[in-house]
Amino acid sequence: MYVLGIETSCDETGVAIYHSKQGLLSHFLYSQVAMHNDYGGVVPELASRDHVQKLIPLVKQALTEAHTPSATINGIAYTAGPGLMGALLVGATVARSLAWAWQIPAVAVHHMEGHLLATMLETPAPQLPFVALLISGGHTLLIRVDAIGAYQILGESLDDAAGEAFDKTAKLLGIGYPGGAKLAQLARQGQPVYKFPRPMTDRPGLDFSFSGLKTYALNTWQQSAQSEQDKANIALAFEQAIAETLTIKCKRALQQTGLKRLVVAGGVSANLTIRSALTKLTEAQNAEIFFPRLEFCTDNGAMIAYAGCQRLLANQQQDLAIVTKPRWPLTELAPLSLLP
Ligand code: ATP
Ligand code: MG
Ligand code: FE
Repeated sequence: MYVLGIETSCDETGVAIYHSKQGLLSHFLYSQVAMHNDYGGVVPELASRDHVQKLIPLVKQALTEAHTPSATINGIAYTAGPGLMGALLVGATVARSLAWAWQIPAVAVHHMEGHLLATMLETPAPQLPFVALLISGGHTLLIRVDAIGAYQILGESLDDAAGEAFDKTAKLLGIGYPGGAKLAQLARQGQPVYKFPRPMTDRPGLDFSFSGLKTYALNTWQQSAQSEQDKANIALAFEQAIAETLTIKCKRALQQTGLKRLVVAGGVSANLTIRSALTKLTEAQNAEIFFPRLEFCTDNGAMIAYAGCQRLLANQQQDLAIVTKPRWPLTELAPLSLLP
């Protein structure tokens, strides 16, 4: 089955062609980061307009690169939520219209299920069941995954998501938007002079709270001499606090579930310090760990094509309605009994 995947939930236009047996055939991404950088955050109206301009050319490019004429496509997967309403509408409308024109089914994909299943595009892919840590710009979730679509939330952030905490801290240190990757780069020049708190690790449970860390970073910055070295030292202390907090909670989740597999995905899973801390944890726990390749940690069309393909293979598709769900709990998804 040939599936066209379309991602437009936020500030990245992603398109991919995935084949159920041959794997990923092509994928393209256009990032709007430079456009939103001037505003210090994503401007929803500009995001929607840019998706309108970029989406169709990217679809054409993906079809050409994969040597798949439109007539060979068997289904279309599009991100229906969660995300920005206007941005979602662009992807959903284009996907639905193409599906109608080509007389094929289309399926609404949950963006976070896409992030989660991005790891399935790697070799070896994780076997079920596993514990998943989803760390992205809008979510921090610890989940028990028994099947595709069967998600039990073990813990989540009560305030800022991990990526949001990275971005806000980067912003207050004046290193641009989105600052997660830049802050991580700066941390490499840091000296270990500060120790930030590990929020909510002094009590039982698997929930997170990251908003206090940015305030801690701000206070530390204001009390410092505000040199470039101070900035790097704060970046390092911040990154280590996030990495260790995530590690403590993942350890608990593995112990609590008795599972020996950890899947880590979402934009923040591109962070090398976090990857290495979690890899050490799984080694010590005799567990396996799985990450998406770096380019599929952040938003992309490949993860949506893959997730949609699994649902289409299980005959899950929607009627002609253009589905958009800016808010959409992962626990509302229908489980697939069919394994990939
Ligand atoms: P969501 O998936 O929750 O809807 P999103 O799509 O905006 O949110 P992603 O695309 O998964 O989020 O990830 C973007 C986030 O990842 C940003 O917050 C960004 O700063 C962060 N990020 C990317 N690379 C790194 C890195 N190397 N270190 C830390 N954070 C990073
Ligand atoms: Mg993004
Ligand atoms: Fe995302």
